[in-house]
Amino acid sequence: MKPLILFDMDGTLIIQEKPPEYQGTKTHYGPYMSIKAQMKEIVIKHGVPSELVFPLNRMALIWNATRLYLEEHDYTDAEIKAVMTEINEPFMVEERADHEISVLIPDTIPGLEALQKLGYEMGLVTTASRESYDRISSDHAYGCFGDYFKHSITRDESRYIKPDPEPINRILELYNRDEFVYIGDSDHDAYACNAAGGRFVLLNTRCYDIDTVDMFSPYAVIERLSELPEILGN
Ligand SMILES: [Mg+2]
Repeated sequence: MKPLILFDMDGTLIIQEKPPEYQGTKTHYGPYMSIKAQMKEIVIKHGVPSELVFPLNRMALIWNATRLYLEEHDYTDAEIKAVMTEINEPFMVEERADHEISVLIPDTIPGLEALQKLGYEMGLVTTASRESYDRISSDHAYGCFGDYFKHSITRDESRYIKPDPEPINRILELYNRDEFVYIGDSDHDAYACNAAGGRFVLLNTRCYDIDTVDMFSPYAVIERLSELPEILGN
């Protein structure tokens, strides 16, 4: 049986197109820093120790560490939901800003089409919100790529997000499958996939160097989605 093929969205099917003013010293990551600072401020206000979240430099890590702390310290489900909803606000601000400058990668639709013709079942696991995923994946400007996926899991259907394997494990349950390949562009994709027991294919849109790539133990590294059928043995 052919393995289930799972995809990440941002950096894998769509990508941020950096306007000229983002090149050089002024980067898109200026506002990103303050978004993380906002998230930290919120969770510290709700009792999460500052020394726990202060060293964290990624939104996903702040998100997961916060939930873990709240769950382990007798916060009620309602209290946890309230805190996560509050830090979701700056998360959404960053997400919308990223998506405003995101475009469809030219190889996405031909790549998905080829895999579908070969009989692969495909799904999508993203850290983005359900709202953003549904809007982008059904938009003609993005090739309606959601049509290729029977199931998708977003941040809104998972307690923990990548690099935690939970979102991948959830989609495996929906398909009732365990053999899978996950295609993603980041370290968090690699760690989530490896922890869930899958084969990781790195689409190296971030231009990671070879030493970094080695840390992910990828099954394969590709530059374009259309390389997948051959990588998968077709
Ligand atoms: Mg990504």
